[in-house]
Amino acid sequence: MKRLEKIYEGKAKIIYSTDNPDLLIQYFKDDATAFNGVKKGTIVDKGVVNNQISSRIFKYLEEKGISTHFVDQPTDREMVVKKLEIVPVEVVMRNVVAGSLAKRTGIAEGTPLKQPIIEFYYKNDPLGDPMINEYHIAAFGWAAPREMEEIKSLGSRINEALSEFFRERKIRLVDFKLEFGRHKGKILLGDEISPDGCRLWDWETGEKMDKDRFRFDLGSVEEKYRQVYRLVCQD
Ligand code: ADP
Ligand code: UDP
Repeated sequence: MKRLEKIYEGKAKIIYSTDNPDLLIQYFKDDATAFNGVKKGTIVDKGVVNNQISSRIFKYLEEKGISTHFVDQPTDREMVVKKLEIVPVEVVMRNVVAGSLAKRTGIAEGTPLKQPIIEFYYKNDPLGDPMINEYHIAAFGWAAPREMEEIKSLGSRINEALSEFFRERKIRLVDFKLEFGRHKGKILLGDEISPDGCRLWDWETGEKMDKDRFRFDLGSVEEKYRQVYRLVCQD
């Protein structure tokens, strides 16, 4: 399979077409952004680390019967994926209060939730990804109601599987963002699952091991990403 032209460059990845019209290549960059692109920087080797972590997690989810876009990881920074028609909705799963939920409710970061929360955000950078609900998604035709039922069910199953996966590695999965898309009539999990889009706290110490270290200048960013890489990929 051959990498052809760049078809999209985002904040963290470049998407290339390939000689197979059903497949794309995601190229993972070291660029990091936060606060809707206002803070910009580089996390050395983030692309390499996030590609390995994501690939490992997609394979794990496939083993659990969850269909993802993952096909292969041919190089350090490249992932071959099934081409999706992305649903323009970011799906956030939460187990513990943090980030925008703490801000919005005034409830202290770290408060465990009685049950997981699913939130939806309209994937639109210029608008700053506003929060939406299923009525907006149906009314604007971003996804059909039966697709949303599938997305919610997949989101819950992914949350259960990943919470266990990280717990076994002494990491608390606080919250994370998912993207889904359509491929040959089926909803598949797309994009990436890495410390860029998850909140991961050390189970014992509560220390943050994710992009919050970059967002809030907590230091040791590369070290913590690499620690997650070791815990996730070297078992
Ligand atoms: P952003 O667009 O938010 O800056 P990235 O830099 O991560 O994000 O770019 C990756 C882009 O590729 C995202 O817009 C994502 O929705 C899209 N994408 C992820 N997986 C697939 C896929 N399998 N098929 C098509 N597009 C995808
Ligand atoms: N998230 C993400 N991309 C976004 C917004 C959020 O990956 O555009 C992730 C974020 O890393 C966290 C979770 O989704 O793990 C919930 O984020 P939150 O709503 O608290 O927003 P934040 O305060 O992080 O912007």
